[in-house]
Amino acid sequence: MRLTQMPSEFQKALPVLEKIKEAGFEAYFVGGSVRDALLNRPIHDVDIATSSYPEETKQIFPRTADIGIEHGTVLVLDGDEDYEVTTFRTEDVYVDYRRPSAVSFVRSLEEDLKRRDFTVNAFALDETGEIIDLFHGLEDLENQVLRAVGVASERFNEDALRIMRGFRFQASLGFELESETFKAMNTLTPLLEKISVERIFVEFDKLLLAPFWRRGLTSMIESQAYDYLPDMVSSRDRLQRLFDLEEVFTFESSEQAWAALLWVLEINNVQPFMKHWKTSRQFAKQVQDLVAILAMREKGELSKRDCYRFDLDLLIQAENLRQALGKEVNHQAIRETYNSLTIHDKKEIQINGGILIKEYGYQPGPELGEILSEIEYAIVDGDLENDLEAIHDYLREKK
Ligand code: ATP
Ligand code: MG
Repeated sequence: MRLTQMPSEFQKALPVLEKIKEAGFEAYFVGGSVRDALLNRPIHDVDIATSSYPEETKQIFPRTADIGIEHGTVLVLDGDEDYEVTTFRTEDVYVDYRRPSAVSFVRSLEEDLKRRDFTVNAFALDETGEIIDLFHGLEDLENQVLRAVGVASERFNEDALRIMRGFRFQASLGFELESETFKAMNTLTPLLEKISVERIFVEFDKLLLAPFWRRGLTSMIESQAYDYLPDMVSSRDRLQRLFDLEEVFTFESSEQAWAALLWVLEINNVQPFMKHWKTSRQFAKQVQDLVAILAMREKGELSKRDCYRFDLDLLIQAENLRQALGKEVNHQAIRETYNSLTIHDKKEIQINGGILIKEYGYQPGPELGEILSEIEYAIVDGDLENDLEAIHDYLREKK
């Protein structure tokens, strides 16, 4: 099959393919971008696979960066774009289900496509627009089916992350999992224990953010894969509560999705949970803030102090989540309270510890901290103007 119109992202990258070919090697567009082009979906990363070895690729282009050379990937910089150019490879020797024991570079496109996860991810596209489809991926695309390349159980045994990827692609594409493929995923979920949490996080996070997250999550629950995810064991019933979210709801950010997850799982102790998932501290903090806002909102309207503690964006995300949960909401009140605040951070206060020590004879220590917080909250509550004069008067009165 030939694409009648090459999407502009590929056209822009054609010179890269052509240069590799001129040097005497094969080169194709591969992976998600070809799938997305066939589905008329937006294309993000145009990935290239080639028969040239990394050192050979580097000699073809004046500007390259080593980003994963041990996996065969060289980043080729071309104008204002960059492309991952990866040597054809096989990953046939797996020792611990985590990663290939060794990546073998090969010169054959077929070998490379064979090691890919799903038939719809295993297309190659050449410079003429011809689609190379060795595993009937076009048929699966037409029927909206996710099918493992080759023997499903072998593929998931080789790399159990593909189980999570299966749920993730179901969520992003809205396809059904072909029955042998799902059966194999189902049977092999215990292998997920051997996969690094970071890799699982990436796929689970993408699943939650995808438009058909309900479908991906339903399969994940059905297969009991969640039992092998950090801190999720036996949480099936509570996890189901995510489906109480409004039918059409999609998460607007990762932090919102994870906050919703923690909320339905009734996990109040956010930090240890996120630690087990090995997320960044900053991400964990945002999730924690969102969960805290949700908890505060259960008790009623937010006060000025409540709004002061958080970013407006998080306050609104929490309110959107409440809305999707069918709870009473008042976005307007939150915006108004937030906007009525005269400061949003203590750094904006017109006075600081230094001035208190120099001009008011305070000693460094807890008392100083107390008076500073008192000023801070008086300003937040609207009882004190954030103005040097006003603060001076306030302090004088206290003395
Ligand atoms: P997205 O559009 O979300 O980036 P994608 O299909 O490009 O989806 P990537 O994770 O970027 O997915 O991987 C690029 C390609 O590499 C896939 O399409 C697939 O062919 C192959 N691939 C990636 N990870 C695996 C894996 N664990 N096992 C087999 N093939 C994989
Ligand atoms: Mg991709």
